[in-house]
Amino acid sequence: MSTNFDVIVIGAGYAGLTATRQLLKAGKSVKLLEARERVGGRVHTQQFEDFYLDMGGTWVGPTQDKIYDLIREFGISTFPTYDEGKSTLIMNGRTKNYKGLIPPLPIPSLLSLDGAIKKMTKLSKSVNLQSPWETPDAMKWDSMTLQTWMDKQMSFDTAKNLFKIAAETIWAAHPNEISMLHAMFYTKSGTDLDTLMNIKGGAQEERILGGAMSVALKMAASFPENTIQFNAPVKAIIQDGEQVEVIGKDFNYSCKKVIVAIPPTLAGRIDYQPILPANRDQLMQRIPMGTVWKCYAVYDRPFWRDKGLNGLAVSDEGYVSVTFDNSPKDGSKGIMMGFVLANQAKDFSLLPENERKKAVLSQFECFFGKEAATPNLYIDKSWAEEEFTRGCYAGVMPTGAWTSLGKHLREPIGNIHWAGTETSEVWNGYIDGAVRSGERAALEVL
Ligand SMILES: Cc1cc2nc3c(=O)[nH]c(=O)nc-3n(C[C@H](O)[C@H](O)[C@H](O)COP(=O)(O)OP(=O)(O)OC[C@H]3O[C@@H](n4cnc5c(N)ncnc54)[C@H](O)[C@@H]3O)c2cc1C
Repeated sequence: MSTNFDVIVIGAGYAGLTATRQLLKAGKSVKLLEARERVGGRVHTQQFEDFYLDMGGTWVGPTQDKIYDLIREFGISTFPTYDEGKSTLIMNGRTKNYKGLIPPLPIPSLLSLDGAIKKMTKLSKSVNLQSPWETPDAMKWDSMTLQTWMDKQMSFDTAKNLFKIAAETIWAAHPNEISMLHAMFYTKSGTDLDTLMNIKGGAQEERILGGAMSVALKMAASFPENTIQFNAPVKAIIQDGEQVEVIGKDFNYSCKKVIVAIPPTLAGRIDYQPILPANRDQLMQRIPMGTVWKCYAVYDRPFWRDKGLNGLAVSDEGYVSVTFDNSPKDGSKGIMMGFVLANQAKDFSLLPENERKKAVLSQFECFFGKEAATPNLYIDKSWAEEEFTRGCYAGVMPTGAWTSLGKHLREPIGNIHWAGTETSEVWNGYIDGAVRSGERAALEVL
């Protein structure tokens, strides 16, 4: 069956939903094809009887204006991430609790770490967000990994280890996988390194009441019936003169324009006819996804708060590198979330569920006390194993990618346009960046 649309949007994550919304507002006929049986993509709120867990994207923070606009428009509210009390640091075999943002490290390590954070933020200011390949010394920065820069910048292992944990928490990739130019770009795209790392005043400042998927659900509900087709993975796109055919197992639609709103590595798995220009294809071969597991333990109460702890732990040992208190707004349950990131996540993937659970809970016990060993529920999720995501939080540019092929990231190919958080100049990698990319792609088409 072939039906004609003005625009077909591929992928009902925040990018595809935003593009669809804008195009519908402009009076276009739109079909949104989604491979999964739900909207939200990398944002997935899992509902339980009396609580919910955000298994993917979760937090929002200052200057993420586009997602906040949607939150407001749909009458949804936000609440502060719990941040009262002391944080926990496990480094070099010692556990310390501390208040505020400055970790209890030996002074030389602390100075070295602080210097590196400031230097990174300063370097990032020079990045050309629209065209990172035109940044001064772009080739120099794009020829080294973030790890290479860290090794030059910091002489103390303790400083380097803590910087590595921060980097892995931001990118879900080992610093040796990330181009320094990309690290600088991403830092500026999200304001600065402090903003990316922090709860108060930073990217982790607030959570969306009802879960981060609730905005996506309301967006989808506002569309005319049958706009979205679920369980519809797109397999092929054929461009033939003015017409584009979009093909899946059970459908074959035609349209004037297509917006591909999926991560570049997934876009590269679609069959294009005629084949895409070599540079676009090669770019899609070069943007791997990060690697992350989200691990949750659910307790009757956030018992760590009674001990004066805020639930934020950072560890240089074990699988879990960082934890956050993800309890409900009213604290009616204790919900602890641990990130297993980068190479630790790859090793973690080799363990069966009971061993993963044992490993995570024993770390939680070490961070927060013996109550942590016996949650009512343990659940974890690997985003690399999701067929329609293949890793998270986002695509990460390795060395050489921005300078050799970056200019093909957003460039339309005939009637094919590209969206998705990876294409955003601002808040690249975040929900807000996905929304911005959807707006930009819709404008291009209009
Ligand atoms: C564990 C984790 C934690 C995160 N934390 C945060 C956070 O706290 N704050 C934040 O702002 N961001 C966070 N992110 C990142 C954020 O979730 C993403 O940047 C954002 O959701 C990306 O949206 P998108 O629309 O660009 O892509 P996606 O959400 O990936 O949407 C793409 C959609 O396309 C569908 N699809 C894929 N292939 C096809 C195909 N062939 N045909 C049809 N459909 C297809 C997918 O099913 C998906 O629904 C996190 C991500 C993860 C995984």
